[in-house]
Amino acid sequence: MAAKDPVCGMMVDEKRSAGTSVYQGKTYYFCNAGCKASFDKNPAKFAK
Ligand SMILES: [Zn+2]
Repeated sequence: MAAKDPVCGMMVDEKRSAGTSVYQGKTYYFCNAGCKASFDKNPAKFAK
C-alpha cells in the first residue's frame, strides 16, 4: 500500500514512512521528518 505525502506529493510506502500524523481522523504519511514537521505546523494547509 502506498499513501501520498500531502506536503511534497511523493508516494510513500505506509510501512516505510518516516513519520505519520493524524488530522481530523485521517492518517497522513510522510517521506521524511521535514515533511511531517511542515504538516504539523499547519495541517489545514495540506490536508484535503
Ligand atoms: Zn515528503
